[in-house]
Amino acid sequence: MTNHDTAADTVPRVLMLGAGAMGSLFGGLLAEVGVPVTLVDINATHLAAIRRDGLRLVTDGGERRVRLDACRPDDVHETPDLIVVFTKAMHTDAALDGIRRWIGAETRILSLQNGLGNGERICAHAAADRVAIGMTTCPADLCGPGHVESHGQGKIRFTRLDGGQDDALERLAALLRRAGLDCAIDPMVNTAIWEKVAFNAALNSICTVSAGPVDAIGRTPGAQALALDIVDEVLAVARAEGLAVDADRVRASVLHAIGHHVGHKPSMLQDVLAGRPTEIEAINGAVVARAGLRGIATPATRALLALVRLVEAGRSTPSA
Ligand code: NAD
Repeated sequence: MTNHDTAADTVPRVLMLGAGAMGSLFGGLLAEVGVPVTLVDINATHLAAIRRDGLRLVTDGGERRVRLDACRPDDVHETPDLIVVFTKAMHTDAALDGIRRWIGAETRILSLQNGLGNGERICAHAAADRVAIGMTTCPADLCGPGHVESHGQGKIRFTRLDGGQDDALERLAALLRRAGLDCAIDPMVNTAIWEKVAFNAALNSICTVSAGPVDAIGRTPGAQALALDIVDEVLAVARAEGLAVDADRVRASVLHAIGHHVGHKPSMLQDVLAGRPTEIEAINGAVVARAGLRGIATPATRALLALVRLVEAGRSTPSA
C-alpha cells in the first residue's frame, strides 16, 4: 500500500500501534472483515503467539482464531493509510518514533487512548489535520500471549484534532462500523474524553492505592465520597476549559461501577501488580496540571496522584 489513496472504493491499510488488549481487539475485528491490518508491538512473546497460532479472539460473538500480520516496529516495511495508537498514553511518543519513517504525509493517526493530551503528543509526529482523537468504552483484556477477550458493548467517538471535517474521517468511522463497532464522529468528543478521565481519575487511582477491586470502594466508609469528590474536581476543571460535562451522568456511572463491577481490578491496578508503569500522569497528573494553570483546587485528585506516584516509586526502589 502506498499513502496516496484513501478513496472510498479502496480498503485502507491499518497499522495498530500497540497491540495489547485494545490494539489486538480492534486489529482482530478489522482483519475479520478483510481489512489489511498489521499489529505492531514490542512484546515478543505476544507477537510470536499471534504469528504461530493466529490471534485468539473471544467476544460475545464466540471464540475464533484470526490470522493477521504482527511485527516489531523495526519490521514495518510500508506506509499505512491509518495508524491507530493503542499504546498506553506514556508510550505514544516512543512508539510513533519507532515507526517514524513510515508515517506518510497522508497517513491518518487516530488515538482512542485514555487520558488527556493524546492528540498533542501525536502532533509532534503528524500535522493536526491528519490526527483524530476520541474515546472508546469498548472493554478488552489481554488474557495471555496472543489471546484477547472483550465482553459487553461499547462505543467509539472521535473527531479531528483541529475540529475539521472531511470524507476520510467519515470513511474511517465507516471502516470501524464495518468491523461491528459502534462508531460515530462527534465534534464534541472532548466532553466525553473528560467525563471518562473523571471516572478513571477517581476509580483507577483509588483502586491502585488500595490494591482492591472497585466494589470495595462501596463497602469502605468514606471511600465512595472520596471517589465522588475526585469526579467533582475533575469536572470543575473541564467546565473551566469550556466543556459542558454532565456531572450526574459521571457520578451515576461511578456509582454503577462501584455497585456492579464486583471483583474488577482497573487497568491501572493491573499495571502496578504486573510491574508496569501506569497512566496516572495522563489522567490525574494532567488534570492537576491544568487545574494549577487555572487556579482551581483539586486536593483529592492531587492526593491520589501523589499516592499512585508513591506506589510506583516504592515498587521500583530496591529494598535495603
Ligand atoms: P495494553 O497495555 O494492553 O497494550 C499496550 C501495548 O502497547 C502493549 O502490548 C505494549 O507492549 C505496547 N507498546 C508499548 N510501547 C510500545 C512501543 N514503543 N511500540 C509499540 N508498542 C508498544 O493497553 P490497553 O488496555 O490495550 O490500552 C491501550 C489504551 O487504550 C490505553 O490508553 C488505555 O487506557 C485505553 N483503553 C483501554 C481499554 C481496555 O479495556 N483495555 C478501554 C478503553 C481505553
